[in-house]
Amino acid sequence: MATTKVAVGPMRVAQIAKAGGDFQIVEREIPKPAAGQVRIKVQACGVCHSDVLTKDGLWPGIQYPRVPGHEVAGLIDEVGPGVTEWKLGQRVGVGWHGGQDNTCPSCRRGDFRNCRNLKIPGISYDGGYQQYMVAPMEALAAIQETLTDVEAAPLLCAGITTYNALRHSGALPGDLVAVQGIGGLGHLGIQFANKFGFNVAAVGRGPENAALAKKLGAKTYIDSAATNAAEALQKLGGAQVILATAPSAKAMSELFNGLGPNGKLMVIGAAFDSIEVTPLQLITGSRTIQGWAAGTAADSEDTLRFAELSGVRPMIETYPLEKTGEAYARMMSGKAEFRVVLTM
Ligand SMILES: [Zn+2]
Ligand SMILES: [Zn+2]
Repeated sequence: MATTKVAVGPMRVAQIAKAGGDFQIVEREIPKPAAGQVRIKVQACGVCHSDVLTKDGLWPGIQYPRVPGHEVAGLIDEVGPGVTEWKLGQRVGVGWHGGQDNTCPSCRRGDFRNCRNLKIPGISYDGGYQQYMVAPMEALAAIQETLTDVEAAPLLCAGITTYNALRHSGALPGDLVAVQGIGGLGHLGIQFANKFGFNVAAVGRGPENAALAKKLGAKTYIDSAATNAAEALQKLGGAQVILATAPSAKAMSELFNGLGPNGKLMVIGAAFDSIEVTPLQLITGSRTIQGWAAGTAADSEDTLRFAELSGVRPMIETYPLEKTGEAYARMMSGKAEFRVVLTM
């Protein structure tokens, strides 16, 4: 029997060999897509704070070595069996939602975002810190021609998270919406909130981001280091929504009293410590706290379309794949302005 050898050259990947390990640039064979999957020639991948889950082994069950990355933009360069809706050469992105099982109670109700067996690129399987990756078709979002790869990549996690949280927050045009934190998430949250027609108050620590916040679309800037930010929000009438983006439970707790009646603290900044709010704070004015995680590939497409329509764009710093360690350290330093993106 003849043996056919498919010529697949090696590719470079940035992997974590064990929990807590450093990034290693290694060569691997280019993977083949199985049924229901495509292979993506990765052009850009955002470096997200949640990649710490893979780097430091903070998510249960990660198998190493693992390639992180869930803000992926690229081109389909091979289509697996049974994939009919996606074409060779098509521009696609993959975000946090890396696939669902279609059978769990949440999926049976169409709530794929909360699939109990949700797959996450870079955690459940190798993500975008590599030249080629394989992804299931339900994780794919089409990218328009007008968005570049480096612009699209951060919109697939930071973008969709802020966009989706805000559009499901219950705030209506004209409502006072505060965006806490002016960083990777916050600088996008301010832009989306402004384009949604909200009266945007940006809340940051220190005066240095005031001008930028206003340029991004905030009507008011509140320096929480110099003033009581909750009181400042009450002076403006009380916020309908506070989008909490900076991963500080203490800052979120301090801001809670800035909510008006029926106001909502919408939490997207992933912190490990506890938000402290008394039952009375919740009862007074019927106020709520809600968390929000990203969204499906269809939500990603909504995000990209809205960004195209409205001009919302991430501010980015780019690094080549070879400098993944440096790029990750820059992201972790909190000093990046504002999203770090790897290019292949
Ligand atoms: Zn992310
Ligand atoms: Zn499911």
